[in-house]
Amino acid sequence: MSLIVQKYGGTSVGSVERIQAVAQRVYKTVKAGNSLVVVVSAMGKTTDGLVKLANAISPNPSRREMDMLLSTGEQVTIALLSMALQEIGQPAISMTGAQVGIVTEAEHTRARILHIETERMERHLNQGKVVVVAGFQGISSTGELEITTLGRGGSDTSAVALAAALRANFCEIYTDVPGILTTDPRLVPQAQLLAEITSDEMLELASLGAKVLHPRAVEIARNYGVPLVVRSSWTDEPGTWVTSPAPQGRSLVNLEIARAVDGVEFDTDQARVALLRVPDKPGVAARLFGEIARQNVDVDLIIQSIHEGNTNDIAFTVTTPILKRAEAVAAAIAPALRSHHAKAEEAEVMIEQNIAKVSISGAGMIGRPGVAAQMFATLAEAGVNIHMISTSEVKVSCVVAAEECDRAVAALRSTFEIEAEEERTRGQGGQRGQGGQGGQGGQRRIIEETSPLFPPSPLSPLSPSSPPVRGVALDMNQVRLAIRQVPDRPGMAAKLFGLLAQHNISVDMIIQSQRCRVVDGIPRRDIAFTVSRIDGENAQKMLSQAATELGWGEVVLDSAIAKVSIVGSGMVGQPGVAAKMFEALAQNQINIQMIATSEIKISCVVPQEQGSKALQAIHAAFDLAGSEKFVVPA
Ligand code: ASP
Ligand code: MG
Repeated sequence: MSLIVQKYGGTSVGSVERIQAVAQRVYKTVKAGNSLVVVVSAMGKTTDGLVKLANAISPNPSRREMDMLLSTGEQVTIALLSMALQEIGQPAISMTGAQVGIVTEAEHTRARILHIETERMERHLNQGKVVVVAGFQGISSTGELEITTLGRGGSDTSAVALAAALRANFCEIYTDVPGILTTDPRLVPQAQLLAEITSDEMLELASLGAKVLHPRAVEIARNYGVPLVVRSSWTDEPGTWVTSPAPQGRSLVNLEIARAVDGVEFDTDQARVALLRVPDKPGVAARLFGEIARQNVDVDLIIQSIHEGNTNDIAFTVTTPILKRAEAVAAAIAPALRSHHAKAEEAEVMIEQNIAKVSISGAGMIGRPGVAAQMFATLAEAGVNIHMISTSEVKVSCVVAAEECDRAVAALRSTFEIEAEEERTRGQGGQRGQGGQGGQGGQRRIIEETSPLFPPSPLSPLSPSSPPVRGVALDMNQVRLAIRQVPDRPGMAAKLFGLLAQHNISVDMIIQSQRCRVVDGIPRRDIAFTVSRIDGENAQKMLSQAATELGWGEVVLDSAIAKVSIVGSGMVGQPGVAAKMFEALAQNQINIQMIATSEIKISCVVPQEQGSKALQAIHAAFDLAGSEKFVVPA
């Protein structure tokens, strides 16, 4: 007998018939010998309707009253579902968030869950009842017992948090799609259903998967080792399992981390190889990394930055023991990469040893501007200069001088309030490499790679090894900004991204160029980054002004870009994955404008009009295509 938490989204309970169908499924699950807590959303588009009503009265309603209003949607569904269950002879009781004791911060419209009382639910479960809980809502504990909501899409979060608090065997998320797909089937008809995905991969695919599963829910599942499955409520298909490291016995107090960052990681055994002035045309990255893969050299971070003129810089990091080999490959290939441009300068290889990578990670940084800026400001205050920046959805990594690593890590831990022990609980802390033995001064930290140990269910035997690439995503909603000639000294990135954060502009990819140029006696670099399309022009205007005041160069906006990404835990320690992605783009004559990576993700900026072609090419290159057709609602 299992204790299961099932969650049904809006469309799954969108009508009386659908609610009755859900009651049947719940009934069957109970009859199979399970105890059940069911979390529901508001019916259909009810919540949108309530928002419209509010806006018809006030353009800017009080957040408290919004919570009062929006929490009513779920209350309708819990009562109706309980009635439907009782009608077919299944004892059931509905409970609001307050009645359960889902205690949240007193932060209206975006509260995070602090803890969940389980006694009352357990009492009813022991009496053989199904407990039907209103998703998306809770109650503040301080003072006035205020009704709060968790933010749009918050019922997923309610469900997984309940599963964690009750120590349920697993949590099922029922929705109107069959599960998580390898990519968007509207752009790639060959997209396939995934049998499983890790929670870390899911977080990196937030832009692809967010509509199916809220990132906050994924983070709770990961932190508490809750096995999660996303399935269609229309069929009996098994859906997609989202696997997490085995539970670490983490405290259930402050259940949802109210912090943006939950890990600080570092690696002091790194060296950087940079190729300066490679031609800006399709196939260059493919050639370079193809050769590197053939030599079996495993690279960690890769970045490609843009430049004035028609050349790029590409830099990557490797572990110190394989630096010699990496350098040899780069040196051998550099002359062949020479641009055919009339006055082209030759590509140049630059090596930097004694560097370290420090990273912050956490799902809480999604949609929270200012986290990267806070990291840069912290490093600036500690007097640490940033040599290289690379970002992904849930991670920011900076390359710094090795002798400054300890200082950087200590400062970051104190800013983000991370205890040294907590880092171990992070999944995917490893690097894309087998790693060598304790590099300089034995400081190198090896963070074990976590594996999805928890057998989710007999339905889904876990495959022994994960494929290098699990999913491919395209983001057409970003634009790129580049700032020329930013002085290369501590504090510049902090200033720049601090300004953006102050204007509430979230930054996605960030890349700092490798090439330094001395202008007016000051060494300078370019910094490029992407922001949401809607923020592009504002950001440019605001930064142009700042640039004039601070003596930075021009601020260039390019709106005709798209970002394609591959995600997969299996790429850790597997040479050749990046090369394959770049090769797929090269074969289609698609020029890569920017590259940024994390351990389990590689993103490329490409011309916008080639975005979906790029997605298709990469999807095919990693053998993700299949013949089954999946339709998802728009
Ligand atoms: N009903 C809420 C919303 O539409 C919560 C949810 O469905 O997850 O955002
Ligand atoms: Mg939803």
